[in-house]
Amino acid sequence: MSKNFSLGTIAVQGGYKPNPGEPRVLPIFQSTSYQQGDPDHVAKLFGLEAEGHLYTRISNPTIAAYEEKYAALQGGVAAVATSSGQAAIFYAIANIAKAGDHIISTSALYGGTFNLFNINLRKFGIEVTFVDPEASEEEILALAKENTKAIYGEIIGNPGLNILDLDKFSRVAKKIGVPLIVDNTVPSPYLCNPFEFGANVVVHSTTKYSDGHAVAVGGIIVDGGNFDWANGKFPEFTEPDSSYHGIKYIEAFGKAAYAVKARVTLLRDLGAAPSPFNAFLTNLGLETLHLRMERHSLNALKLAEFLGAHPKVAWVNYPYLEGNSQYERAQKYLKGGASGVLTFGIKGGLEEGKKLIKNLEIATLVVNLGDARTYILHPASTTHAQLSEEEQKASGVSPDLLRISVGIEDTEDLIRDFEQALNSL
Ligand SMILES: *Cc1c(COP(=O)(O)O)cnc(C)c1O
Repeated sequence: MSKNFSLGTIAVQGGYKPNPGEPRVLPIFQSTSYQQGDPDHVAKLFGLEAEGHLYTRISNPTIAAYEEKYAALQGGVAAVATSSGQAAIFYAIANIAKAGDHIISTSALYGGTFNLFNINLRKFGIEVTFVDPEASEEEILALAKENTKAIYGEIIGNPGLNILDLDKFSRVAKKIGVPLIVDNTVPSPYLCNPFEFGANVVVHSTTKYSDGHAVAVGGIIVDGGNFDWANGKFPEFTEPDSSYHGIKYIEAFGKAAYAVKARVTLLRDLGAAPSPFNAFLTNLGLETLHLRMERHSLNALKLAEFLGAHPKVAWVNYPYLEGNSQYERAQKYLKGGASGVLTFGIKGGLEEGKKLIKNLEIATLVVNLGDARTYILHPASTTHAQLSEEEQKASGVSPDLLRISVGIEDTEDLIRDFEQALNSL
C-alpha cells in the first residue's frame, strides 16, 4: 500500500490485497499446514532460504495480512502477532535478553507486565531495574550496566496515565546502545507513533483498542527497523544461528532482522501463536480504529470535564485535560486525543465508589479496557491487587482510584449516566 496514505485508509485497506476473482474480505485460512510441492523447496523453507508458509505456529496467510496492515499502521518495517499482549511483551524482551542480562523498565506499568518483569523474568535469569518514569536522564543512565539490553516503558501508563517522556528515554537508550521498547496499547497506532520519537520496538495488547470489541485476546510486536543490532551488544544478530544452519539474521534479513528472529526462534520454540480466527477478528476491528479512537478520546475528554466539575468528585485525571500534569507531553506525543482511559476519585473514597459503580447503567463493571462499551473498575482490588501497597503506589494506583474505559456510546447519554449515578449517592 502506498506510503502516502493516511492511517484511516491503511486501517480500512492495508494488508490484504485480493487478485481478481478472490474474496474481497480477508479470508480466514483455518489451516495448521500447507500443501507443498517440490521437496527441495520445503528444505529451503525450513532453512529460511525461501519465503512461504510451513506451519501456522510460525506463519499463516490470514495472520500475515493482518501483521502487514499493523506494521503499516504503526509505521514499522514488520510485525509479529502473538496469542496475547503478555506473550508479545515477553518475546520482545526474550528476543534480545537472556539469563545473565539486565533491562531497565519504568515502574509505571500494567500490573501483568510488572509481575512478568518482577517475578518471571527474574526466574529466567533476566534482572530488571525499575525506575521512576520522572527520573532524570542522569539517574536513568546511572542504572545502566555492561549487560543492559533494553529500556522499557508504556506510552500511557495504566492506570497512572503518565505519558512516557519518549525524548528522554530514547536519548538514554541511544547513549547506552540498547533499544527502547514501548507498550503503545492505550494510544493504539492511531494516536501515537513512538518510532517518530526514537522508540525501536513497539508492543501492543491488541486485546484492547486494536480489536476494539472485546472479542479476541492478542498481542503484536512491531519492529521499527531503526536499531543497529550490529553495535557489538547483540551478537545473536551477527553470529551464526546453529538452529538454522548458521544463518546470520542481519545479513539475511536486514532491517527486519529483529522481527524475523522473534518469529523463527520464539514463535517456533515457545509457540504463543495467535489463531487465524483471532487475527481475522482483530483485523476487522482495525478497520474502524481511526473512527473509534476519535470517539473514545472525545467521550473521555467530555466525561473528564464533567466529572472535574461535579461536587462529589474529589479529583480527575485525564492527560488531555487542560491543567493536567501530563498535558504538555500528551499534546506532544499523542495526535488528536488521549484515548479512552480516565481515572478519578470520589469524595468518601472506595465505599462511595462501590455505590457509584452499582448506580451506573451504561458503564458496567468489567476488568478490561479499549472496548466499544464503557467499563468502570477499582484497580487496587482487581487489576493491581497482586501488587503490594508500595508497588501499587509506584504504578500510580491510589486506594480510592476508579478507572473508566470510556466507550464510544453517545457522549450525552454517557454523561447523563454518570450524573444520575453521582446524584443518587
Ligand atoms: C492488557 C494489557 C497488557 C496485557 O495484554 P493481554 O492481551 O491481556 O495479554 C499489556 N499492556 C497493557 C498496557 C495492557 O493494557
